[in-house]
Formats: sequence, C-alpha cells, structure tokens
Amino acid sequence: MTIDVSEIPAGAHLINGQWLQTGEVAVSSNPARPSQPVGEYSSGDASVASDAVGAALDTKVSWRDAGFKQRAAILERAAVLFEERADELAAILTLEEGKTLGESRGEAMASAETCRYQAAIIKMSSESIYPSAKPGETIRTLRAPLGVVGVITPWNFPVLIPVWKIAPALAAGNTVVWKPASNTPLVAVAVAKVFQDAGVPAGALNLVLGPGSMGNSLVADDRVDGVTFTGSVPVGFSIRDTVTARNGRVQLELGGHNPSIVFDDADLDYAVPMVVNGAMGSTGQKCTATRRIIAVGDVYDELVDRLGAAVRELRVGDGLDPETAIGPIVSTRARAEVAEGLDKAKAQGAEVVATASIPDTSDCYFAPTLLTGTTDLDIWTEEVFGPISTVVRVDSEDEAFALANDTVFGLSASVFTNDLWRIDRAVNELEAGLVKINAPTTGSELHVPFGGEKQSSGHAAREQGDTAHDFFTRTRSVYINPGRPRP
Ligand code: NDP
Repeated sequence: MTIDVSEIPAGAHLINGQWLQTGEVAVSSNPARPSQPVGEYSSGDASVASDAVGAALDTKVSWRDAGFKQRAAILERAAVLFEERADELAAILTLEEGKTLGESRGEAMASAETCRYQAAIIKMSSESIYPSAKPGETIRTLRAPLGVVGVITPWNFPVLIPVWKIAPALAAGNTVVWKPASNTPLVAVAVAKVFQDAGVPAGALNLVLGPGSMGNSLVADDRVDGVTFTGSVPVGFSIRDTVTARNGRVQLELGGHNPSIVFDDADLDYAVPMVVNGAMGSTGQKCTATRRIIAVGDVYDELVDRLGAAVRELRVGDGLDPETAIGPIVSTRARAEVAEGLDKAKAQGAEVVATASIPDTSDCYFAPTLLTGTTDLDIWTEEVFGPISTVVRVDSEDEAFALANDTVFGLSASVFTNDLWRIDRAVNELEAGLVKINAPTTGSELHVPFGGEKQSSGHAAREQGDTAHDFFTRTRSVYINPGRPRP
C-alpha cells in the first residue's frame, strides 16, 4: 500500500479550540521506512502545557454544566467518525508506530466502540439514595467530575489507549489536557480532530505535543486535579509521587511480565497459535504480551518444537504490506533496548530455539525470538518490551502456579488446560488483573474493567468498562432538608 504522506496534516497543539504551531519543528519517523519521514510536528514545552491547562480550567464549568445528554451525543458522533475515518487513522498509525494495518484499523474500530459504550454508561445513574434519621430529609450521593484531567499516553496503542482515557473523562464532565508519546504525534492529532469534529467544545479537550519534560510539567501543575498514565514503571512511579505529593488523584497502567501456563492436557493445536500470538503480536510491544511460557511436565518438548516452528513462520515486514504479521519495533532506540535484553539472556545461558527472518530495509526490524532457559535469567523477571518469549519447564502444578506468581508484576496471566480443577485454581490463585483460560494473555474487551495488580497498576479504579468513571468522578454526599418543620 502506498500512502501520500503530504496529505497528513502538520502536527500542531490543540489549545482552546485552536491548532497552534508553537515550539521547535520535530520530525515523526516511520520505523519501516527510515528515509521517508511521516511528517513534521511542533514540539512544545512547559509553557505550552501551562496554556493548555489554563484553557481546560476556563472550560471546566461550562463543560460540566453542558449535561450528560449533550456530552453523550458528542461521544456518539465521535464513534461514527472513528468508524468513518478508520482507514485514514490506521494508515497514519501504521506509518508512525509500525504495527500492521489490520492491528491499526482494529484500534480505530475499538475506539468507536469505547466512545459509544462510555456515552451509554453516562446515561445510567451511578448515584444512590439513603434513608435519613431526620424527618423530611433526603440523602443522595452525587458523582461530580474531578475537574481538569491530565492524560499521558504511550506509543504502543496510540489511538485506543488515549480514547479509553479521554472518552470516560469527557463523559463524566472533565476537561482534558492530553500529552501523547513523542513517537506517535501525528496520529494523536488525527484523534484529537475526531473529537473536535464530533463537537467537543473549545478548551474541553486540549492536545499538547512535546517531550517527557512537558508531561512532567503537566503532572506537576496543581491546577490539574487528576492524571491518568500508561507507560513505563519508572515514569509512572515518578508521576505518582509528584501528583500524590500535591494530593491529586493518579491512575497508572504500567508494565507486565505475563505468564502462560501450558499443561499436559492442553490441546496444542489450539494453544500454540494463541501463545505465539500473545507473545509476538504487535511485535511484542504490549503490556499484556506473553513474556513467560511455563510448560508443565512432559508437554515441554513438543510444545517447544511446535512454538519454534510457528515462530519461524512469522512474516515480519512493513505494516503497510497486507502479508505482514509482525511490524518493526517503534524506534531504533527501543530496538536497541530489546537487542540488549536478548544479548544478556544469551550471555546468561538462554538457548535460542527459533527466530523469524527479517527484512534488511530498516534498522527497526527485530526477529521474533523463542528462548528456553531457567528462572535465573534476567529476562525471566525483567520486562523486555519486544517479541521475545522464554519457555521454562516445571514438573508440577504447584510449581507452575508458584512460578507464574513469582513476579513483581500482575497484569495478565493465562492457562491452557481442559481440567476444571486446574481452571478453578487459575481463577482463584493467579495474581493478575486479567486471568485468561485457554486464551492468550493479550486482548481485552472494552466493556470490562482493565488493569493489573502489584507493580502493574496503581491503586486507583480500573480503566474501561463501567468502572472507568470511578477515577474521573468524586462522590459527594448531599443532605437535602426541607428547611422548616412539617406544616
Ligand atoms: P515512557 O513511560 O517513557 O513514556 C510514556 C509516556 O510518558 C509518553 O507520553 C512520554 O513522553 C511520557 N513521559 C516520559 N517521561 C515523562 C515524565 N518525566 N513525566 C511525564 N510524562 C513523561 O515509555 P517509553 O515510551 O519511553 O517506553 C519505555 C518502556 O516503557 C518500554 O520499553 C516499556 O517497557 C514501557 N511501556 C509500557 C507500556 C504499557 O502499555 N504499559 C507502553 C509503552 C511503553 P515521550 O514519549 O515524549 O517521552
């Protein structure tokens, strides 16, 4: 597929309804075609973020008072636009991030579903009525918006992750300042344009493009009532410390080191493609990707053989090519980190079972790699954000569950078995926010709460589903007394 990059709009900040090109000119690159930049954008600084917070603050009363019906109608229009522009959004996403067009289009369509679902949810009451000890008095709870919300998002799902934060934030009556990742600024502009064209008024959604330091100034701004963040553990923890120090509210979605346990009774025809997809899909650049494969007992040899054969067959290439299954890694810097993780694993004794072949047209390609080894490998405990997965053998069910939980992370975990007792054990014992039975660790439905345990998430309410509004609202208890004795 050929895309005319000259048709992609120049990246600008959206502040108070105006597209502003303030700051240095920066270039957004295509990891599959380094010689063909995707386009230019304006990279701002703390003053740009501050202006955006000012616009959000000035709009917060009018957006709150617009009422749920108007806000829901706007999100419903955004859903239609995400569907109508799915091909355009997918093209920009694939050019900037590298994932396949099918994966990119899926993000646009899931964004439409998210907007529609969050528009519906806001029409349902989340309030309660309580009896009062005083005659004539009514007590009810009210869900008030937080106010101004900072949204900081990563490059790996640059359309869907922002939308699953922005849609419930706007629906609940908050105004938003969004800082997307520097690897994917132009698709962020296209997403913000969807919301603007759907009717989100000036100042209710503001987009600022710039480096992490700009994000840092946004989270430090005490006019920002809450911050929702997805990304790395160190940045997430530093945001948590900054926001909680000024008593703001913070929501974190961080890393994972997700296990799939494969038992000897599993149907390998079914399990192997799922495990490979969970490990290598989206080039392994998912927080829910399967990093650890735990083979229980005698299934080990056949499982390793079959996983290896499936990995060798993966077709790596330009995401614009419809034959491609696995795109490049997002940047040369990110690829270098993944390569370093693999080199270290090999130096520590990991054995490479299989790799896929890669094109030589870009330095961002990285061969999906299946390793075997022991739990002493650093890669068995540390997240390497790319298409590498390691198989370890254990001899008992007890060992398998203990090993699955032996991690600082707790985002997703899966088991492959047909034994109902093992399934019961997985449901009750796996320490993860997402537990999948006979399914990959990746993938989630948008009407269901999403988030992790341990270091994978903060302590705030879950994202997505009917829990999404919990983070973006404050509960107020309201006592309504008639004000005079019964006549
Ligand atoms: P980061 O955590 O550095 O970036 C995520 C977002 O935070 C980006 O918008 C980034 O901006 C911004 N940011 C960076 N520094 C700050 C700061 N001090 N204050 C506020 N915002 C900041 O992730 P990376 O993109 O650098 O990826 C690094 C690693 O993070 C990956 O290797 C992976 O392990 C993990 N990761 C996890 C993801 C997940 O889904 N949980 C998604 C992506 C990455 P900018 O892009 O401008 O630096």
